[in-house]
Amino acid sequence: MSDDFEDTVNEIREYVQYQIDSGLRYALAPVVSDRLSPGRLDEIREQIGDCRRCKLSGSRTNIVFGEGDPDSRLMFIGEGPGRDEDIEGRPFVGRAGQLLTKMIAAMGLDRSRVYIANIVKCRPPKNRDPEDDEVIECIQFLDAQIAAIQPSVIVTLGRVAVKALLGFQAPMGKIRGQFYDRNGIPVMPTFHPSFLLRQGPNDRKYKGMAWEDLKQVMSLLNLPLGRGGE
Ligand code: SF4
Repeated sequence: MSDDFEDTVNEIREYVQYQIDSGLRYALAPVVSDRLSPGRLDEIREQIGDCRRCKLSGSRTNIVFGEGDPDSRLMFIGEGPGRDEDIEGRPFVGRAGQLLTKMIAAMGLDRSRVYIANIVKCRPPKNRDPEDDEVIECIQFLDAQIAAIQPSVIVTLGRVAVKALLGFQAPMGKIRGQFYDRNGIPVMPTFHPSFLLRQGPNDRKYKGMAWEDLKQVMSLLNLPLGRGGE
């Protein structure tokens, strides 16, 4: 066995062991690491085609690819399309999407200046969590999008996105508020906007925590602080 091959095998073994130690129940899809040229997002969309690679294809209306600035330094990644997104074929367009748009505006940005996508591109029935086999099939496309965009920072929205991108499961209250690494890109986990909308009397408390997370992201991006969240 050549030294190169042995090194590669050892790296893969360490990577898989790291994921097992992190509590992951499945191995993450390989990450596309090449720097992709502008326009590559169109090619990724073409590769997805009328995708039937997982069972979510059976109940979807539209594939929700993602949208925004292909040169953005900031990506938001949620778990999957809901009813409104499935109908429109666009991410975060329902009530949760309206709140996300407000959160982005509070950062001093227009929604069109960031890129928004999900872990899976087809709506899970009754808005259930995507299942492991569905994530394994679909995340290759998100990884290709991340490689094409090369954001400076990713904000994950909710625990499903954390599990799929970072490989561990924990209550959001315990893991939010600090950056993690995903192949050299800082990742800030925060609450999903639909969770924030469900909090009733606690909503200011949780929105305040989400705003603290976003302020750290603004700081990393050198965006001016001093604007307020809700
Ligand atoms: S969720 Fe992803 S992998 Fe599954 S059918 Fe839709 S696009 Fe294909």
